[in-house]
Amino acid sequence: MAEVVIDADAWQHASRIRWPSSEQAVVVYEGTTDADSELLRVDAERHEFRFAQVGDRLVAVMGLWPGVNGGDRAREFLAAHESFHIAAQFYGGRIPLAYLEVDPILVRAYAEGRAFDGFYDAIDTMHAEVARGAEDVDCSALEETYAALEEGARTYLNYKIFWEWPAEFYSYSVTFAGRLGEYEAFRARLFPDDTGYRLFTAGVKVARMLEAKLPRAEWQAQVADGRSMLAVLAATYQCRLVLDEGPAVTVVRVGIP
Ligand SMILES: [Zn+2]
Repeated sequence: MAEVVIDADAWQHASRIRWPSSEQAVVVYEGTTDADSELLRVDAERHEFRFAQVGDRLVAVMGLWPGVNGGDRAREFLAAHESFHIAAQFYGGRIPLAYLEVDPILVRAYAEGRAFDGFYDAIDTMHAEVARGAEDVDCSALEETYAALEEGARTYLNYKIFWEWPAEFYSYSVTFAGRLGEYEAFRARLFPDDTGYRLFTAGVKVARMLEAKLPRAEWQAQVADGRSMLAVLAATYQCRLVLDEGPAVTVVRVGIP
């Protein structure tokens, strides 16, 4: 068990978190396969992450039974990432209605990630240009690869981007302090056979592109207000890419499933 606080430098709107009590930290447990409590019992065959408000505490449970590479640093990284989901996102921001849930059929169809390779390649190229100091970057490959996705693929991608990109930038910031190459190598092998990891590394690169143009407090305020980092990227770099996100809502309480 670990108590994980939200770093106010990496996430500048930590003061918006609606902590249920004065204990301003997420309690993170590693689940076990034989735990008596359903909350802490995890599957031996797959990685599982869940979170809930239990009494007056925010709790995250990590099921790492199939194994992770990276030792203590991997556990620290994942604890930061999961804590961010419940504290900074569910209890600290507004969530567009469209992203409250995703159809499990889409998760089964697209979680392995290969459908998005062209989209991630486009982000890699844009990021490399920004890293070289380019002021304006060409969005056409991003626009085309996004438009070419099947509708279900786009729905899945939008949902994952909304949740995962801010959380990944946060855990990257607190664990790797801006060392992108080291982070990317770590992320690619964190879970054995993880073909979907580019979703996450793309999010860190998009955050770096946003930070080349906007103060951290500004883009993060937009995200806390319920905007996807992809929508903020499109607005910042004048990319023709429209997300139908709908109105954002405030989640009052996350219960035990
Ligand atoms: Zn996540």
